[in-house]
Amino acid sequence: MNPKTLSEILDPLTKPACFSEKLEDGKVRCFACAHRCTLKAGQRGICKMRFNQDGELRAPWGYVAAANIDPIEKKPFMHFLPGASALTFGMLGCNFHCDFCQNWVSSQALRDPASNASDRYVEQITPEELVTFAQRSGARIIASSYNEPLITSEWAVDIFKIARQAGLYCVYVSNGFATPEILHALQPYLHGFKIDLKCMSDPHYRELGGSLQVVLDCISLAHKLDMWVEVITLVIPDFNDSNEELWDAAQSIAGISPDIPWHVTAFYPTYKRTQSLPTSAEILQRAADIGQEAGLRYVYAGNLPGRVGSLENTYCPQCNTLLIERHGYSISKNVITSEGACPKCGTKIAGIWG
Ligand code: SF4
Repeated sequence: MNPKTLSEILDPLTKPACFSEKLEDGKVRCFACAHRCTLKAGQRGICKMRFNQDGELRAPWGYVAAANIDPIEKKPFMHFLPGASALTFGMLGCNFHCDFCQNWVSSQALRDPASNASDRYVEQITPEELVTFAQRSGARIIASSYNEPLITSEWAVDIFKIARQAGLYCVYVSNGFATPEILHALQPYLHGFKIDLKCMSDPHYRELGGSLQVVLDCISLAHKLDMWVEVITLVIPDFNDSNEELWDAAQSIAGISPDIPWHVTAFYPTYKRTQSLPTSAEILQRAADIGQEAGLRYVYAGNLPGRVGSLENTYCPQCNTLLIERHGYSISKNVITSEGACPKCGTKIAGIWG
C-alpha cells in the first residue's frame, strides 16, 4: 500500500472553522487572516491548511507538529513574566512564504514539496493533554508559535479556554497578518501578542505574501485591545537595514506606543535566502540607536548573545537603573518590584510582571 500523502494525513485532523462565513453556491469566506480567501467547494486557502469541504470550511485541529518548553525570552517577550517557562506548540502551515523562514519545514508544508517530510512531526493530542503537559512542566505560559497561529486559531482558542481556567497565560507569536474580526475574537483569550514587523516596504511585504498596512494595523489594534504587544524585526542586510527603513519602523511603533518593546534581531542565511550576509552586531547597534532616537523606551538586540553590550538588558526609562540583566535567554538579575516598578525611582515599567 502507498504511504499516505501529507494532505491525506492532515485533512482528517480538522474541524468546522468558526472564523468563516458561508456564502451562496457552496462558497465560504475565511477571516482567520487578512487574505480573506473566498473558496469554492474543494478549494484550499492560500495557507493550504484550511479548505472548503462540501460547502463547509475545515480548520486544523487535534495535533501538534512540535511542543516544547522554552523560556519566554525565546519567543521573544522581555516584559512578560521574565524567566517563566512557556509551553510552546505549533501546527503546520503559514499564510506567508518568506524566503528566510527559519521554520520553513513546518511553515511551508503543502506549499513547498521539500516540506513533505513534515508529516513525521505530526502527533495527535487533545487540548486537555496539552494543558496538563504545561502544568506538569511548571509552565506559566502557553504559546502558539512555530507555524503561523492565526491560520490555526480554532485550535489555539480551544486550548486557551482550558489553559486560562487553569491559570495559565496565553500568547501568540505571529506575523500579524490579522483581520480586525479575528483580533476581537482572540481578545478574551490572549494575554500577549508578539508580532513580526518584517520591513517597511510594501512591495517587499507583498513578495513575502503579506501587506505592510495590515501588520501595522494589527499592532495598533492588538495594543488597543489590551494585549501585551512586543514587536520584532529580523534585520537582514540589504533587505530592510537602511537607516530610513529602520527609522520608519521605529517611528511607526513609537506612534502606537513608546512602551512597546522593539526587538531587532540578527539574521543568519537560511532556506532560500543564502545570498545575504549574516547581520553583524554593528548593524543591530545602529538599528537600536535609531529605535531609541525615535522615542522607543525599550529596544533589544537579539540572536547575538554577549555581543550587543547592554542591548539585552532592561533599564528604567526614567533613571536608567539596570532592572533586568540578561545573557541570551538567561536572566542573571531582576530587581523590578512586585508592582512592576523601578526600585530606585518608582517609575512603572510597562509589561506583565506577574
Ligand atoms: S487563514 Fe488566511 S490564507 Fe488560510 S484560508 Fe483563511 S484567509 Fe486564506
